[in-house]
Amino acid sequence: MKEEYADLHVHTFYSDSTFSPNEVAEMASKKGLKAIAICDHDCVDGIAPTEEAARPYGIEVIPGVELTIEEDDAEIHILGYFIDYKDQDLLKSLKRFQEGRIGRIYKMLELLKDKGIDIRPEEVFELAGDGSVGRPHVALAMLKAKKINYLQEAFNEYIGDGKPCYVGHLKFAPSEAIEMIKKSGGVPVLAHPMVGARDEFIPKLIKFGLRGIEVYHSDHNKSYEKKYLEIAKAENLVVTGGSDCHGLSKKTVLMGKVKVPYSLVLKLKEEADKIKAAQKHA
Ligand code: AMP
Ligand code: FE
Ligand code: FE
Ligand code: ZN
Repeated sequence: MKEEYADLHVHTFYSDSTFSPNEVAEMASKKGLKAIAICDHDCVDGIAPTEEAARPYGIEVIPGVELTIEEDDAEIHILGYFIDYKDQDLLKSLKRFQEGRIGRIYKMLELLKDKGIDIRPEEVFELAGDGSVGRPHVALAMLKAKKINYLQEAFNEYIGDGKPCYVGHLKFAPSEAIEMIKKSGGVPVLAHPMVGARDEFIPKLIKFGLRGIEVYHSDHNKSYEKKYLEIAKAENLVVTGGSDCHGLSKKTVLMGKVKVPYSLVLKLKEEADKIKAAQKHA
């Protein structure tokens, strides 16, 4: 039988991808994927529309989310798989973070104004639509208003990490993010440990209930894959992998460039079932 694959880290335009749910589904079909996981930043609004768009192609959509936590000044991303994305407590917590993201846009625009770049908040919010608003939308608004010549200039000169107009966003405490994912029946997984996370955090995250590691990712080379695969095995964590496709906002469309055999999805599902059963008895 032909091996079937899943890309377990895909964004939509409900966070910082340029792709609509339809474009995500179309691309997943073009890449011959059996399943994709939608993991937008602080937002679950892209899941249902992508499920709908993927149905005609027979592609399974795994409900996910990507949360940002802060530990010892490091920014770490935690993925949640097979969450109940209609869970009211989850939606309430996410809303708090989305509101924080909105407040921060106003602050960044103030700082940009001091630099002579006048962008109205509505110009940014319009680009984000109903989804999670973030720096990519600010950059796009700057480009549209011809305040910069190319998108990357916004990050290089103004809003990239540590640049003069950068404002950080509200971040979850590690235990809070992991708990929240588990409470909604999801499997908490450390995203792209190579980007941001430091290895010494891993034992602490496991203590809080972390159950997996994203071993395969577009920013991981073979030696990182090997290292994190060994850690996953030693700690009995589920192995996941995905491209982190942001549509056209990265150099190339990444979807399907990193994928895992469908057997890993089944393992992830098993883990989610265990978490859901434990939650019921909690
Ligand atoms: P936010 O969550 O609003 O802080 O935005 C984070 C997103 O901004 C990332 O997922 C990237 O898509 C984008 N981003 C951050 N830094 C850069 C950078 N230096 N160059 C290009 N894109 C960036
Ligand atoms: Fe992103
Ligand atoms: Fe991430
Ligand atoms: Zn991501």
